[in-house]
Amino acid sequence: MWQFRQSYYRAIPGACQYGDRMGEEALSSCRGTAGRVSARRPATDIETAPSFRPPRRIGIFLLLLILPALRAGASPPLRIGLFQRERFVRIAFTATGPARIAAPSREAFLEPGESVEIGLEGGSLRWRVNRRREAFRSRWLHLLPGAPQGGLSLRPSSSRQRVFKGRLLVSARQGRLSVIEELPLEEYVPAVTALEMPSGWPIEARTAQEVVARSFAAANRGRHRAEGFDLCATTHCQLYGGSLRGQPAAPRAAGWILTRHGRPLEALYASTCGGATASSFDVWPGRKNRPEIRPVRDGPPSAPFCRFSPHYRWTCRFTAGELSEALRASPEAGFRGDLEAIRIARTDPRGRVLQVALGGGGLRPVPAVDFWKAVAERWGWGRVKSTRFELWQQGSVYIFRGYGLGHGVGLCQWGARQLARQGRSFRQILAHYFPQSRLIRAE
Ligand SMILES: [Zn+2]
Ligand SMILES: [Zn+2]
Repeated sequence: MWQFRQSYYRAIPGACQYGDRMGEEALSSCRGTAGRVSARRPATDIETAPSFRPPRRIGIFLLLLILPALRAGASPPLRIGLFQRERFVRIAFTATGPARIAAPSREAFLEPGESVEIGLEGGSLRWRVNRRREAFRSRWLHLLPGAPQGGLSLRPSSSRQRVFKGRLLVSARQGRLSVIEELPLEEYVPAVTALEMPSGWPIEARTAQEVVARSFAAANRGRHRAEGFDLCATTHCQLYGGSLRGQPAAPRAAGWILTRHGRPLEALYASTCGGATASSFDVWPGRKNRPEIRPVRDGPPSAPFCRFSPHYRWTCRFTAGELSEALRASPEAGFRGDLEAIRIARTDPRGRVLQVALGGGGLRPVPAVDFWKAVAERWGWGRVKSTRFELWQQGSVYIFRGYGLGHGVGLCQWGARQLARQGRSFRQILAHYFPQSRLIRAE
């Protein structure tokens, strides 16, 4: 038990360093993580505050907050926008170690196992600790877990094993709670790797995944700048849901990234390429201002590296009515009416479909990626799994026989698994999927 139990909440008259600005501004103005906050609000402030006896442990607590900042080195922390899909108006976090809550003119502490509940009320936050009666209002608050074991887990949670170790900024934004986690790149990368690749896979494949995740993050820093953070936590950027408890904190190839022309490469990846990867220019013509991630054959045609993937080969059927429904609902496909025919109009030299022609009163070319997306958004991503397919028509039924899962650009995860099993190093795996790139140590 901490000694300041009685003075659980503490007002800090005039001590707010940030005023009552919007949370995003506040967060960007105190970059440098907890160390900077501690430096601005030294222990002497705490000692002189009325009705507050400084516990000796607060010094240790502040030191624990400073340490990760020192470890993180010069690279600024990443800001990850959490829960973008959930649109929370109420949220609760449980501390897994000692943690501090910092809000304008108010400060509170959480002991391990204690919780803070935060709700949205009239455009500002209303928060309370441990279901106490006393609740506070503020426009934003920071949740600062103590390092190294400290963290905050979502409560109630279906994934109790996940914990946020960085500092969390909670604020009100457009009628919902905005939660942004600020954490060093090297703590973000293992958490992404743990979600993107099973822990039982060979270490060299996981290390290759770690390097592509780091390169992607480095290349896309600021992608969501307009929303106040760098990367979102969904597949739009990279899957992230906090750190897995007990996962190794230090990445194996810390600091290593792929580069092209001296800049971090947006190193993409997908589950199963189906025998050959795709060109990033073919999948996203809008990304032609970035270096192309070129296609490669994924092993010999008779034995592709990703042939052991459960998605290597697939078949599915659709009626013309089902496809019409999906296409009509998709703005990208721009299709009206009833589908009378589909033809594969253009493929790349390795058999991936680039364009389909849709018939319904004349054939109209549509990018294969838009067709795939339209079908997947209506009928799920588990049926037409990629754009590497062949197509037959039997009456009003279309039969797709395809290879692979995902867009197919960059690292093929199932291929990397097989290469690692064959004894290749992560460097060799990355050289195979990103042949025009250089692997360098950024820090
Ligand atoms: Zn995103
Ligand atoms: Zn592959």
